[in-house]
Amino acid sequence: MLDPVESLKDKIVLCCKVLQKQGMLDGYGHVSARLPGDRILSTPHMPPGKVALRDLIVIDMLGQKLEGAGEPNGETPMHTSIYRARPDVQCILHYHPDELVAVSVTAGIKVVANCGAHFYRGAPIYDSPLLIRNRKLGDKVAETLSDRNAVLLRGHGGTVVASDLDTLLRLGIDFVRTAKIQIMAAALGAAKTHSQAECEQMTKTRERSNTNRRFLDYYISEVVD
Ligand SMILES: [Zn+2]
Repeated sequence: MLDPVESLKDKIVLCCKVLQKQGMLDGYGHVSARLPGDRILSTPHMPPGKVALRDLIVIDMLGQKLEGAGEPNGETPMHTSIYRARPDVQCILHYHPDELVAVSVTAGIKVVANCGAHFYRGAPIYDSPLLIRNRKLGDKVAETLSDRNAVLLRGHGGTVVASDLDTLLRLGIDFVRTAKIQIMAAALGAAKTHSQAECEQMTKTRERSNTNRRFLDYYISEVVD
């Protein structure tokens, strides 16, 4: 059996590969996971879609590097602030898909498709395009995120949080998909949104039937033999 840390490393790399294959990453963005002892496993300062196991680094809660050859990302303070503010969060994805940038400067996320049901409680908008390069800004993003599972950063991108890397990958994919459908629907006219009751029922069913597995296996099959 894989050591839990080794398993986390594998899942982070896989997560990056899947998002890269789906065209949801650019040369920036990052994925991290909480480790025991106030440490964080993170992709380093390099394009996340190109990260291999040997590239992953370990940082402390202040963003200082503890292990690994690469350097921490410039926006590491966003990760450390969220981990400090949200003990329930075990992993974080930050990326800049065009679809998220587009909704971040307009209406924000509206649930117009089933893949958006995870976000029925809203994805607040952090109202600045500046990169999150210090603790003060990181704390503001964490405050904007509050107890939600996703936050949009105006004109910049999005950040998704979860209690495990499988869920993080699903949320990361579905956040972009629902934004894309919303943009398509907006071009056709006023869109009808899902009700809160519909979303709640949908997310409960997903948890029960482990549909995450089938969802993830499909995307993973696109990047591994
Ligand atoms: Zn960014």
